[in-house]
Amino acid sequence: MNAGRLAGRVAVVSGGAGGIGFATAERLANEGARVAILDIDKSRAEAAAGRLGGAWAFALDVTDSRAVETCIAQVVQHAGSLDILVNNAGITRDNLLFRMTDDDWDAVLSVHLRGAFALSRAAQTHMVAQGHGRIINLSSIASGGNRGQANYSAAKAGLEGFTRTLAVELGPFGITVNAVGPGYIHTEMTDATARRLGVEPEDYRAQTAAVTPARRVGEPEDVAAAIAFFASDEASFITGQVMYVDGGLSL
Ligand code: NDP
Repeated sequence: MNAGRLAGRVAVVSGGAGGIGFATAERLANEGARVAILDIDKSRAEAAAGRLGGAWAFALDVTDSRAVETCIAQVVQHAGSLDILVNNAGITRDNLLFRMTDDDWDAVLSVHLRGAFALSRAAQTHMVAQGHGRIINLSSIASGGNRGQANYSAAKAGLEGFTRTLAVELGPFGITVNAVGPGYIHTEMTDATARRLGVEPEDYRAQTAAVTPARRVGEPEDVAAAIAFFASDEASFITGQVMYVDGGLSL
C-alpha cells in the first residue's frame, strides 16, 4: 500500500460493486483517490460505495453509450475532474462453439468491448483537456485462448488491441493506457464457472492452485495492486502494456 500515492485523483471503476472491481475501488481509495463506483445494479453500487465511505455510486449499464456519456459527465460535475478509468465490468457466457448462441456472443463482446470503448471515449474528453489520465482495462489470460470461451477470449484479445491503440492515440496528451490480465481470481465469476462445470468452487480453486506455479489462486487484491501501480505517477512511462497477474498459471 502506498498511502497518498493517488491523493487528489478521481477514479471511476466500472463493475465496481464486487469482486476485482470493488477491491480496486478500495485500493485506489486507500491510496488517496476519490472513487466513483459504476455498476449495473444500483443497490449493489450504493452498498459498495457505502462500505468505502465517501465514494460515489452510479447505476450504469456500460453497453448503453448514451447513459455512459451522461454518467461520466455527472462524475466530472460531482468530482471536478476524472483522472483514472478502470474498465472492469465483465460477464461470461461460456459454451463450446457449437452450442454458443448469437446472444452469448453479443452479450460478452458488448459488455467488455463496447463498454470499454464507450467509457474510454467519454473519459478521454476530460483527460485530454486536463493533460493527464490513466486508463486501465481488464483483460485476462484467456485472451490467449481458452476452451469454452470463444466469445470471452475474443473480447479480451480485442481489449488488448484496444489498449495498444489508445496508448498510441492518447499518449501525446499525458494519458497512459494499459491492461491487467488476471489468471484465476477468487470471485463470484470464477465460483459461477465452477458451479457450471459441476464442481464445488472450493474444489475448483484447490485444483487450480495445484497447477499454478505460485500454488494458490489469486485474490481480487492481487489484481487491485497492479491496477493501482498503472494508475500512479510512477507508471507514467509505461503505456500500451499488458501485465498478467496469474501466479504463473499461463506460463
Ligand atoms: P464479477 O462478476 O465479480 O464482477 C463484475 C461486475 O461487473 C459485477 O458487479 C457485475 O454486476 C458488473 N457488470 C456486469 N455487466 C455489467 C454492465 N453491463 N454494466 C455495468 N456493470 C456490469 O467479476 P470479476 O470481479 O471476477 O471480474 C472483473 C473483471 O476481471 C472482468 O472484466 C473479468 O472479465 C476480469 N477477469 C476476471 C478473472 C477472474 O478470475 N475472476 C480472470 C480474468 C479476468 P452484476 O454482478 O450485477 O452482474
